Amino acid sequence: MKKCFCAASGKEFSSLKTGFQYRGWIVDKGGRIDDVMVVLRRLPHSYTGEDMVEISGHGGNVVLGRILSTCRKNGARLAEAGEFTKRAFLNGKISLSEAEAVSWLIQARSEKEASLAITQLGGGLKERLAEVKDDLIHILSTLEAQIDFEEIELGRHSNKRLISRLNICIGRIQKIVSDSENGLAMRRGPKVVIAGKPNVGKSSIFNRLAGKERVIVSPYPGTTRDTIEETIMLGDMPVSLVDTAGLRKTRRMVEADGVKRAKEKIREADLVLAVLDRGVSLDDDDIGLLREIEGRRAIVVINKRDLPSKMKKSGSIKMFGGRKRIMVSARDNAGISDLENEIVKAMSSVLDWGGGSGVWISEKRASMMSEAASRLKTAAEGIGRRYSPEFVSGDLRKALDLVLEVRGEKYRDEILDEIFARFCVGK
Ligand code: GDP
Repeated sequence: MKKCFCAASGKEFSSLKTGFQYRGWIVDKGGRIDDVMVVLRRLPHSYTGEDMVEISGHGGNVVLGRILSTCRKNGARLAEAGEFTKRAFLNGKISLSEAEAVSWLIQARSEKEASLAITQLGGGLKERLAEVKDDLIHILSTLEAQIDFEEIELGRHSNKRLISRLNICIGRIQKIVSDSENGLAMRRGPKVVIAGKPNVGKSSIFNRLAGKERVIVSPYPGTTRDTIEETIMLGDMPVSLVDTAGLRKTRRMVEADGVKRAKEKIREADLVLAVLDRGVSLDDDDIGLLREIEGRRAIVVINKRDLPSKMKKSGSIKMFGGRKRIMVSARDNAGISDLENEIVKAMSSVLDWGGGSGVWISEKRASMMSEAASRLKTAAEGIGRRYSPEFVSGDLRKALDLVLEVRGEKYRDEILDEIFARFCVGK
């Protein structure tokens, strides 16, 4: 920095004070590159806990490119994705869950996600696991005292106390797991599955909702053989939209596989869009679909409203029951915004977008929490059955290790890589 910054006051770079803003020029051999403001943050008063310099330039691509290349010529290099936050974690400035909250905050697509992320940034997971950690250490030391001094045999009463403390830990961990599932559901949004027999226009509707020609639309029935999933934004709600292979009775192996997966997707869905084709009579496949969605949250979408109706002739209109029906034409983009409104209406009651408690931790860390809970259950059962303390403490130790790892006190590089790879460059 010494070589490429020239303060307007003429002061030496090394004499500049931390936390103050200085005006000056970025310079190279050819002269001034930009008129900039520079803030120096010396260790430990910076985001990463190391010496840092922030340069505010005029923002044009050419000028910024020249500033960067001048800095690089003088020994700087570009940061890797998430490197600033990773350094902040490694230098003990923030916890792992705070680092994840930073990533969530940057990527938040709705105000609700952003406000949950900011809550997590204010502490959260590490503190929530503090008591669990202390309890586990206490329980473990009680058990290990029994191993070391065989004459200390815990009575039934003490065992009961240990089990009830373990159960409290299990409850706390399980709440974190369910909050992380909530966080994930909030990021992914509810799952909206588009189902219907081949050629009714599922892919066309998917493309209209997703706003681009993502799925190949084909006039030949049965071409979308597998499922395709994409997160789209409807207002400030992310929705995970799934296009399925056609639902119909079939003898062909490849297609039968797709149909099986489509049925599974319907079962997993928070909302099903059951698509029918107005241009053809209702047949057994449509009726099969309407049966499939009985008792599920679903909207019947009648596509190809530009075509004359052949549906009524079938006499099966009763099958719709009291279901909401929306008429659209994916070809003409007609009725699609009504469909979007209906999806939002149906979904806003499903998830508590406003208040729900959610945390954002990677799936790997969430699965480590689940494993910790199941290890603790095994340990509690073991104590209840008066198994030897050596036997029980193995599970407890593993659970404690997992808790320490999730708190970021112990870490493996692969977990750090997984977390920081999600960041954009510059954070
Ligand atoms: P899928 O098999 O259910 O995914 O159906 P596709 O989206 O591939 O569409 C099948 C055929 O129906 C294609 O030839 C589309 O162009 C056509 N199609 C889709 N939507 C409409 C519509 O609203 N009106 C008309 N007339 N044709 C449509």
